Amino acid sequence: MAIDFKKHIASIQDFPNEGIVFRDITPILQDPKLYKAATHELAEYAKSRGADVIVGPEARGFIVGCPVATELGLGFVPARKPHKLPRKTVKAAYDLEYGSNSLEMHVDAIKPGQKVVVCDDLLATAGTLRATKQLIEDLGAKLVGAAFYIELPDLKGRDLLPDVDIYSLVQFH
Ligand code: 5GP
Repeated sequence: MAIDFKKHIASIQDFPNEGIVFRDITPILQDPKLYKAATHELAEYAKSRGADVIVGPEARGFIVGCPVATELGLGFVPARKPHKLPRKTVKAAYDLEYGSNSLEMHVDAIKPGQKVVVCDDLLATAGTLRATKQLIEDLGAKLVGAAFYIELPDLKGRDLLPDVDIYSLVQFH
């Protein structure tokens, strides 16, 4: 029977700022069956897209993407916040649902022509995904899909990336 992931996501009013409803995935992570099942769903998606590499944006993208890469026998590449990576990087700025930041990736992290699937916990405005896509393309690779536990369709993140195939386990309106 299909798992109802939605009922295992906690919704916290006014966190981290007033007016924001934060969707908390930690109840999924702390249940080994649920974490494994969510990982498997995203891994099946990434496999269907022909992924060579999994990329995850800091920080929850690490939690979501690393086990997907491991299940598929692929490498994992972190897209990190500024000044965390020790070697030469490419960099892209982005706006968040609350605040702004930039992401960096090591210049040798992905090879030109590789097919990349991005994994993260949540798609909101798609600022994070757009910056991650830019990093992937700056390295000559191709973003073939993006997989999330949660999508907030009302924020219309998909509309900003009409050429990107997007998969999500659950949607909150
Ligand atoms: P976007 O860039 O699509 O606007 O925002 C998505 C990014 O912000 C993701 O990396 C995600 O981790 C974080 N984020 C924004 N809102 C939430 C939320 O309500 N819950 C969680 N878990 N992450 C969020």
